[in-house]
Amino acid sequence: MMMIIILDSTFLFYQADSIRQETFDRDLAETAKSLSLIFKKSSEKELQDIDENSISLMLTEPHDKMFYSIRDDQGRLLFGNSDVPYRKAEDIDPSDPEDFNVYFSSVKNESVRVVSIPIEHTINHVKKEFFIQVAETRNQRTELQHQIIFWILIPQFILLISALILVRFAVKRGLNPILYLNEKIIARSYRDLKPIDVEDVPLEVDRLVGSLNNLMSELDNAIKSENRFVNDAAHQLRTPLAGILAQIQLAQESKDVEEIKRRLEQISQSSKRLIHIINQLLSLSKTQPEAMHASQFIELDLVVLVKKTMEDLFSLADLKKIDLGFDGSNEAAFILGDEQKLYDLIHNLIENGIKYTPNLGKVNVSIKSKDNKICLIVEDTGKGIPKEDQPNVFKRFYRGDNVTQSGEDAGAGIGLAIAKEIANMHEATIEIDSRNEKPGTRFYVYFDAVAPK
Ligand code: ADP
Repeated sequence: MMMIIILDSTFLFYQADSIRQETFDRDLAETAKSLSLIFKKSSEKELQDIDENSISLMLTEPHDKMFYSIRDDQGRLLFGNSDVPYRKAEDIDPSDPEDFNVYFSSVKNESVRVVSIPIEHTINHVKKEFFIQVAETRNQRTELQHQIIFWILIPQFILLISALILVRFAVKRGLNPILYLNEKIIARSYRDLKPIDVEDVPLEVDRLVGSLNNLMSELDNAIKSENRFVNDAAHQLRTPLAGILAQIQLAQESKDVEEIKRRLEQISQSSKRLIHIINQLLSLSKTQPEAMHASQFIELDLVVLVKKTMEDLFSLADLKKIDLGFDGSNEAAFILGDEQKLYDLIHNLIENGIKYTPNLGKVNVSIKSKDNKICLIVEDTGKGIPKEDQPNVFKRFYRGDNVTQSGEDAGAGIGLAIAKEIANMHEATIEIDSRNEKPGTRFYVYFDAVAPK
């Protein structure tokens, strides 16, 4: 703002000053021309100075002193004041009545402005060239310059002050609602995530308050969900731990070696289950958005990864005499993904298939490509998922009514939650197909295909 006003004032000053200079110079040039006419008249026959009367008439100014000199074409003084400095008008056209030479100089230590004009005059049929100089002290010019500075600067200064006052007022007014909101937020406890009352806040900030309220409500939900998660996780860990403790007590009280062996076997089973749950919890934590940066997305062949995962699960399938097989095309199916996380997703789906399919059943895995999509299908001949359970099975710690809550196939209810999170981070979708007409369960996971390099 200050800069603009300074630039504006400087520009105005230079404009006004150059107009002032030009006007004064033209006046001076007019005087010189009038003198030249008088000189020509008085020197019709022979060279003669301008008469005193004309000089005092033409060279009298109330605030300034004026001087003149007349010189020949060599610059030698003919008449007038020898102190008037002479500068030959080099590129001046003597036949152009509007043309003149102008410069600053000094006469008797006083600063003057000088106008020099060339004149042509014929005396006794001889054409000669002369120069007339008129010098004027600069009192009136300086006085006017001061006035210009004064009249430009004063309004600009008033403008600057008023602008500053206005800006200050506007900023203060604009900030008031934010300061008010700030006070309301400072007065709150960090635990208080209730929405700020929109009625209470000034209109100017109600959109900001709306966004803040949304953020707080999301934060509130996230905190509640984390608390629920910790609570559920603790419950899941407590059950096998309580079982282990009970078996230890019973084993300590027993003298029967066979019974002690049986108890130790149960302790071993519960410990395995505990480790499985802990591994799943860790796997789930790795799928959270804040752990995303640790993901390593690469181009990989889903067929290869599926076969590798199946190899790790053949022994589990063998225990239940389940026929685990890969069906369909072996053609490479490239997708972009994090290998370890995709391994977990595939592992969880196949493991569930084995877990929830009775002995001698079948679990089949296949991959199909269509329209830039690659679909992983895991199907089993197991007990299926009831329709009412299907929307819930992807929730954390949810276990369907179709499975036993303890015993061999007891899980923590987080395998599918993990699978879903992993699918989300790969922008893939998971669908379930399980209905009465067709026994068993089919999981479909759709990925975007990438063209192999
Ligand atoms: P968990 O297997 O530990 O219970 P999941 O999150 O893997 O947890 O599965 C959630 C629920 O979904 C299971 O408790 C079960 O009810 C159901 N479910 C998952 N996969 C299958 C399947 N292949 N067949 C039948 N039910 C399944």
